[in-house]
Amino acid sequence: MRVVILGPPGAGKGTQAEQIAKSNNIPHISTGEMLRAAVSSGSELGQRVSSYLDSGALVPDDLIIDIIKERITRPDCDRGFLLDGFPRTVPQAEALTGMLESLGKGLTHVLLLKVPDSVLMERIMGRASAGSGRSDDNEDVVKKRLKVYHEQTAPVAEYYKKRGELLELDGLGTIEEVRARIDKALSDPSHK
Ligand code: AMP
Repeated sequence: MRVVILGPPGAGKGTQAEQIAKSNNIPHISTGEMLRAAVSSGSELGQRVSSYLDSGALVPDDLIIDIIKERITRPDCDRGFLLDGFPRTVPQAEALTGMLESLGKGLTHVLLLKVPDSVLMERIMGRASAGSGRSDDNEDVVKKRLKVYHEQTAPVAEYYKKRGELLELDGLGTIEEVRARIDKALSDPSHK
């Protein structure tokens, strides 16, 4: 099972991704988490990317594409993987298609969690005031991340829609309700 989960910041992708990966016994690959870990370790990569993360901008495509290429060819991905936060741009999506083709594989599911902007702002601001510990959870940065999503990541959903691969899901409701919709989509017999 090779799954991509798409959705705007605050759609609940991370929470759902963690649960789906766990119950299907596949690695949860979150590019945001990998980058935040690099920043806190103070590594060379971390130093290169910290200003992008703090401002809510995307890190350069070639950099993140190399990270994913290395990650999905590790042995723990032989049974599959769940990508959370990648691809974020159409060039990243095209690169992923190319990588998987060269491995003789394809994605089994591309999920899009749909949540209106007004709800997203409320949710993320709630996360900020609860002290998520993320340096990018403040109002200006959240607005910037939503703008970046609409400009650069929404076209990724279109890319998969054109390929007939996109499964659009309502992201409103409780974690359990959304999880049930995802489980249903993942067990759809028209997908493997
Ligand atoms: P996330 O945790 O997925 O919301 O990611 C947090 C931040 O990491 C984003 O705002 C970007 O700065 C960076 N980031 C994560 N994934 C990517 C990606 N696929 N391409 C570019 N930047 C990314």
